[in-house]
Amino acid sequence: MTRYLAEHAWLGGPAGLVHDVLIEVDDGRVTAVTPGTRGNDATRLAGLTLPGLADAHSHAFHRALRGRTHAGQGTFWTWREQMYALAATLDPDRYLALARATYAEMALAGITCVGEFHYLHHDPDGRPYGDPNVMGHALIEAAAEAGIRITLLDTVYLTSRVDGAPPEGAQRRFSDGDVDGWAARMGGLQPKPHARIGAAAHSVRAVPRPQLAALAGTGQATLHVHVSEQRAENEACLATHGCTPTELLDRAGLVGPWLTAVHATHLTDLDRTLLGDAGAGACFCPTTERDLADGIGPARALVDGGCALSLGSDSHAVIDLLEEARAVELNARLHDERRGHFAVGELLGAATAAGHGALGWPDAGVIAPGARADLVTVRLDTVRAAGYDRNAADAAALYAATAADVTHVVVDGRVIVRDGQHQLVEDVPHALSASVKAVWS
Ligand SMILES: [Zn+2]
Repeated sequence: MTRYLAEHAWLGGPAGLVHDVLIEVDDGRVTAVTPGTRGNDATRLAGLTLPGLADAHSHAFHRALRGRTHAGQGTFWTWREQMYALAATLDPDRYLALARATYAEMALAGITCVGEFHYLHHDPDGRPYGDPNVMGHALIEAAAEAGIRITLLDTVYLTSRVDGAPPEGAQRRFSDGDVDGWAARMGGLQPKPHARIGAAAHSVRAVPRPQLAALAGTGQATLHVHVSEQRAENEACLATHGCTPTELLDRAGLVGPWLTAVHATHLTDLDRTLLGDAGAGACFCPTTERDLADGIGPARALVDGGCALSLGSDSHAVIDLLEEARAVELNARLHDERRGHFAVGELLGAATAAGHGALGWPDAGVIAPGARADLVTVRLDTVRAAGYDRNAADAAALYAATAADVTHVVVDGRVIVRDGQHQLVEDVPHALSASVKAVWS
């Protein structure tokens, strides 16, 4: 039994913000939560303690692009050429080192679970490795070494365009030929206590219509798809199929409560209705969407229509779920020239329970008896949040604090970050520097 005394805690669900909270943890689970407790021998957590943050959309290797791709001109499509050049350099050892360092950075930011949208399956010539899942196994191992949970979203990627053109260049590493080949390979992946296996279809660009239907036939419980991130994808889909990407997914039988539509930026009213009525989720990645000049998606309308909203750091231009969460609201303000679209609790819920739900961990993302014991403590005495209002400590963390203010992180009852120091990866900046240098050498 471990006992924590949180100065403030945002518990998730209707409980919201409470003060002087005794949180008791045993065998990786929260066993009791008692607000209004003072003076005992519990470990004191100064600041605001949140449930574990879930990064529901990650491509770990994109971390090596940070600081190297933002300054130029162009579009998503020119950025993609730089990303493909990076993808061509990776082997299992470099992938493991880069993912371990990236996931360690996530842990320092309070991320207790990552959804890794993984399509870098084969060798640079497109041939399977001796272990055909060696790259996926590297990601699962990386998460273990960084002390976080992972849902490996093993991705179907078969074509280079909506019209079914074959994969080109680096894309050859991504393809299993067809859905049967994909299913046969990914069937060799095994869940672990810290790892679950989910599925993804890269996009309607990368999976042709008959193969989308074949994927529906495999009955995936967790399925993520990049949807309408770019207007060009919509235009190509309309030209080839006479419908939007969301409509195409729906016709293939892929729109349901198992689906998370990633980005969901350029949607029609019908798209939003299809997703909402089906109880599908939407995962926004605002720091990447702004970096790649994607546009601003209809977050409020999606949530009002019935979609659960989760968040991802995607290309890792930034790894900071507080920044992703507030950006949903702040982007909506820029778009509508009006303030106050989302309540604080809605945005923190997107960063915690909704993200875990989208990744197949429904027992995480709240601080409540029976839940996984994930605790993320954010200091509020730094220059960013100092002077905060005690009765708005959750808003202070959301709108003023950053990932750099995360001091203490517990994952499944185990302390992974203490006093801002990762307990498993000794020097995370060095691990990042060395692993990024290795892929560009
Ligand atoms: Zn992505």
